[in-house]
Amino acid sequence: MNSLFPKGFTDQVARDFGPDFLDDEPETRRIYGQDWSGILEPNPSAVAFPRSTEQVARLLSACFEHGVAVVPSGGRTGLSGGACAARGELVLSLVRMNALGPVDPATRTVRVQAGAVTEAVHRHCEALGLTWPVDFASKGSSTVGGNLSTNAGGVRVIRYGNTRAWVQSIELVTPQGEVLELNGELEKNNTGFDLRQLVMGAEGTLGVITSATLKLVPLPKRADVLFFSLTDMEAVIRLFSFARESGLPISAFETLSAACYRESVQFFGMSAPVAELAEAGAYVLLEVEDLEPGDSRLESFLEQVFSRALVLDGVLAQNPREARDLWKLREGIAEAVLHQSLVHQHDVSVPVSKLPEFSARIEAQYARDYPEFKVFIFGHIGDGNLHIFIRAQADAKKEEFLARCKASDSALFQFVKDFKGSVSAEHGIGLLKKPALPYSRSAAEMALMKGIKQAFDPKGILNPGKLI
Ligand SMILES: Cc1cc2nc3c(=O)[nH]c(=O)nc-3n(C[C@H](O)[C@H](O)[C@H](O)COP(=O)(O)OP(=O)(O)OC[C@H]3O[C@@H](n4cnc5c(N)ncnc54)[C@H](O)[C@@H]3O)c2cc1C
Repeated sequence: MNSLFPKGFTDQVARDFGPDFLDDEPETRRIYGQDWSGILEPNPSAVAFPRSTEQVARLLSACFEHGVAVVPSGGRTGLSGGACAARGELVLSLVRMNALGPVDPATRTVRVQAGAVTEAVHRHCEALGLTWPVDFASKGSSTVGGNLSTNAGGVRVIRYGNTRAWVQSIELVTPQGEVLELNGELEKNNTGFDLRQLVMGAEGTLGVITSATLKLVPLPKRADVLFFSLTDMEAVIRLFSFARESGLPISAFETLSAACYRESVQFFGMSAPVAELAEAGAYVLLEVEDLEPGDSRLESFLEQVFSRALVLDGVLAQNPREARDLWKLREGIAEAVLHQSLVHQHDVSVPVSKLPEFSARIEAQYARDYPEFKVFIFGHIGDGNLHIFIRAQADAKKEEFLARCKASDSALFQFVKDFKGSVSAEHGIGLLKKPALPYSRSAAEMALMKGIKQAFDPKGILNPGKLI
């Protein structure tokens, strides 16, 4: 094995765990050493596949003793390099720990292992008319452990909030191999620091999440999906304000730039859902939940949207297939943009009212200073969360492209800071966003974060080099 592990460690693992526990085949190391960003060269020494919390605890205890660096790994759908292993680490994959416990309709909770796929949790709960309201395009591959570790948001944050609102308890294995149950079955618990909340968003730097009790909500009985074309982001915010004032139960309000819309329509070979108008610079997908058929609020909203000229054109999905197609236009953007060439991505947030000015300045800046980049802007308006995907020209050299991106990043991060925003609203800091952290966190905050890391992980074996 071309391993950076200290002598004695691999012997101990071979002795204490089964023969299929550790895999150091080049293909396995390549697959499990990288996330969907595809930017970093994967180079872990091996990948461990535990089946139980007890195995995770024993493994971490051995890693702690031998000083072996560990990268916790879920579905690897993050785009910040958080789950990447490029320096001979041991990847700890939770993929075999995907059990789904019984749904409790009385408490509206379900206990699942951390390797459970997000969408599998949804399907599991559907039968009892319940769902875990954490929902986004990568749900078919992402895992509960990754969702919690990045405090994932998604398309329904506008109605339900982020992941941290939907977790009752977490089972965490510390770097020393101790198993902690954080918060248990309690709804109310005012006994000091809430370590459960601290672990969420920690990107696997404080401990390994092995299972969690998730809070559930009733599955919406129906959803209406609308799609609009508008002139620009100013118009998007006007429509957003009006939709909120109208009292509609909004479950998603997503926007996409004209470049995203065209890319998605073309990539999926769809027919355009709204009229092709040269002045259309932005599009909106609006979803409302649980309106009774014939509820006059939707009809009246649509009448006013057109009579007040708030949009250029619009369509209301007439059946579930049309609704799915409209969602595909929005949720497929990443796939459509990523497939063609190298992409450098940002997931920033700024106050909602500042989105028009912010996105206009970003587009103008890139057009002026980096005309070779193709810029795609889309996101969740209710959260002020924008994705900015920068795509290289088809023949671009990776190193040159990354160097140009790095140069352009400082200006973007400074804009985010000027607008009092966050440099990472979704994928976390990982490795790729580390230079950006000081634009969103003060020196005093970062010193406190380092102190917390030291308290949990004094030898620094968990996800070293990530986040802080
Ligand atoms: C197309 C697309 C759309 C997306 N849309 C959204 C969105 O709308 N909103 C949003 O918030 N995010 C979004 N994401 C990113 C989202 O955060 C991740 O997809 C998901 O939450 C990460 O889960 P994962 O299992 O893939 O984690 P990974 O990528 O495997 O890991 C993410 C981080 O968590 C750590 N980790 C993983 N498992 C554990 C564990 N068991 N214990 C401790 N640490 C662990 C890893 O070390 C890493 O630091 C999107 C991603 C893609 C590709």
